[in-house]
Amino acid sequence: MSSGARALPAFSGRAGGGHLAPGSCGPWVDRDGRPPQLRQRDAGQVEGGAAGAHPPAMKPPAACAGDALDTAAPCSVVNYLRWDLSAQQIGELTVELIEQTKRVYDQVGSQKFEDVSYESTLKALADVEVAYTVQRNILDFPQHVSPSKDIRTASTEADKRLSEFDVEMSMRQDVYQRVVWLQEKVQKDSLRPEAMRYLERLIKLGRRNGLHLPEDTQQKIKSIKKQLSLLCIDFNKNLNEDTTFLPLTREELGGLPDDFLNSLEKAGDDKLKVTLKYPHYFPLLKKCHVPETRRKVEEAFNCRCKQENCAILRELVTLRAQKSSLLGFSTHADYVLEMNMAKSSQVVATFLDELAQKLKPLGEQERAVILELKKAECEKRGLDFDGRINAWDMRYYMNQVEETRYSVDQNLLKEFFPMHVVTQGLLSIYQELLGLTFDLEEDAPVWHEDVKLYSVRDSASGRVIGKFYLDLYPREGKYGHAACFGLQPGCLRHDGSRQIAIAAMVANFTKPTPDTPSLLQHDEVETYFHEFGHVMHQLCSQAEFAMFSGTHVERDFVEAPSQMLENWVWEKEPLLRMSQHYKTGSAIPQELLEKLIKSRQANTGARWEPPSCLGRGGQVPALMGFSAACVGYRASLPVSFCPSGLFNLRQIVLAKVDQALHTQTAADPAEEYARLCQEILGVPATPGTNMPATFGHLAGGYDAQYYGYLWSEVYSMDMFHTRFKQEGVLNGKVGMDYRSCILRPGGSQDASVMLKLFLGRDPKQDAFLLSKGLQVDSSDPPAC
Ligand SMILES: [Zn+2]
Repeated sequence: MSSGARALPAFSGRAGGGHLAPGSCGPWVDRDGRPPQLRQRDAGQVEGGAAGAHPPAMKPPAACAGDALDTAAPCSVVNYLRWDLSAQQIGELTVELIEQTKRVYDQVGSQKFEDVSYESTLKALADVEVAYTVQRNILDFPQHVSPSKDIRTASTEADKRLSEFDVEMSMRQDVYQRVVWLQEKVQKDSLRPEAMRYLERLIKLGRRNGLHLPEDTQQKIKSIKKQLSLLCIDFNKNLNEDTTFLPLTREELGGLPDDFLNSLEKAGDDKLKVTLKYPHYFPLLKKCHVPETRRKVEEAFNCRCKQENCAILRELVTLRAQKSSLLGFSTHADYVLEMNMAKSSQVVATFLDELAQKLKPLGEQERAVILELKKAECEKRGLDFDGRINAWDMRYYMNQVEETRYSVDQNLLKEFFPMHVVTQGLLSIYQELLGLTFDLEEDAPVWHEDVKLYSVRDSASGRVIGKFYLDLYPREGKYGHAACFGLQPGCLRHDGSRQIAIAAMVANFTKPTPDTPSLLQHDEVETYFHEFGHVMHQLCSQAEFAMFSGTHVERDFVEAPSQMLENWVWEKEPLLRMSQHYKTGSAIPQELLEKLIKSRQANTGARWEPPSCLGRGGQVPALMGFSAACVGYRASLPVSFCPSGLFNLRQIVLAKVDQALHTQTAADPAEEYARLCQEILGVPATPGTNMPATFGHLAGGYDAQYYGYLWSEVYSMDMFHTRFKQEGVLNGKVGMDYRSCILRPGGSQDASVMLKLFLGRDPKQDAFLLSKGLQVDSSDPPAC
């Protein structure tokens, strides 16, 4: 998932996500908008002098694609974030932040119309957004990562209050009217393109909040939005705080390796404690040869928070539909999709249906192979063969395919992926590819001892462009998936200086044990690459406005940059650079390496469950990735068996559940999921479970947009094969083009424009379809 693009500005705020955050800080922020410590650190850290106002609005475009860096603005290298607040301080600062920010909105909204100007309106709103965003993240990010339950609770409370405040600010008709006035008054070509885009976006978002509608309708919308944002926070909080575990004996855990068993806590007597967190759940579903254990665990996993989240989900879906209807849209999906590349639910339905149709024969073939394997296994172990594939069989047999057909022994393989080697290799590849230099900041203030902070410089100019935190291991109460949270947007500050971007990658990789270091499964390495791709998107963007910083792109494009970077973990040279046996220091044997690369065809089941979800509430947190198959190898191997068919069909099921809930309000989530599993995947959902109640995306800013994972693969595949695969996966020139054309603009340009620049033509679906094991039909329409 992609990063926490939290705080949207003024009238933004999609319901459900609650994200609108007004901005913060105009001139007042320096006086009293930040805690004293931050003010001190601020002093004297603006590089390059020249602290004036924003660049004048009338300036020509600062830089065009081709340059990776905005060198026009002086750079401020301050890290405004702090992690030492007590629960009480979080509460107090929340109140303060609300008051300060409201003051700016009041100021803007009470101006006489004849006084409305770029400076007094647009710039004031943009400035307040920057400081508000940073301060808000200081207050509400700890809910995901703080080791203290009190602080997590205070932070969740802060998020709720701020989300409500966001809704209030997003519904300020007085402010909206002044922005509209400005648009009418201003000469079209007198604003810089990004300032014009900002103006148009504010008006668009205002209309999407109904600010052009009668007062009583606005009141209804406001009340719905507030309810939605609170419900979303609770939905994901319930999942994160879930502490369900199953006590199981060693016999019941048959098939799991000793290091896994030894890492489990005791649960009294001779039982071991298996939680439902990823590092327990996935290995168990893949390796445990006792079907009854897999059944119990899969059932518990898909029953998490069943009661409470089921109720929340029903309410969410109903309220979203009501709001969209008030705004004149026939469905919530159409309301959401208006802002995406896809534009309408009909386009999404066609995309998913056509893909499902094309993948159907592959799915049938794969199910037949899996049934054969199951039959043989039942005979071997003396078990009854029930003649069908159950939900808890899928990952187990897909793993067998990988091990038997491709002979990749994942337990052996992971010995070559100790965390420190992977981290070092990954960081060096990213640095080389994107022309960056990373430096570990020793003794930086962080929220937990596991966390590391790095600063990032542009290698060519030596200029600091940002910082990132790595928080890689699970702990109780921590955000349960992998995600990238944007914490400090890279954009211009009120004084015209460029604020560095800061992001955090939060993940839950296998922890070290007393005997062994943290050894990563290959799919964890892939997740690492994926999430780090979002971090780079945050850091490399050089937008002027926080609203367009980092991953604030169309939601159905936001995964593309990260998905593209996953390709590196399937290429020989990068793989060798990020691996080394944890005991002997030797490289991955050639034969194993080749088998691994070939296994990509089978490997797409690695992340069978919906890739992590984003943070909750207001952000567009980091999206997690999917594996994407590689055309190069796919094309050179017989496509006789390719379990990616089932993997992709499952993604279609999830995307269609999401679309169904947001186009047909009456649909029952669990029933809809069960129906689509049967129809599209051919594998029934486990009776009694309610997977949608555990589907964090539905309340994490991906409502009606889960399809975006598949959709953006069209672009990630096209970018990889058209440029990197042709010109070299470690080719620095292509890497810099990628940084300039795709990462640098953030959301300040439409994705279709960026893609065209990087590709040198309009995007095509060919590489995507080939990667799915499908034929390319010359009649397939262009991709956007
Ligand atoms: Zn992602």
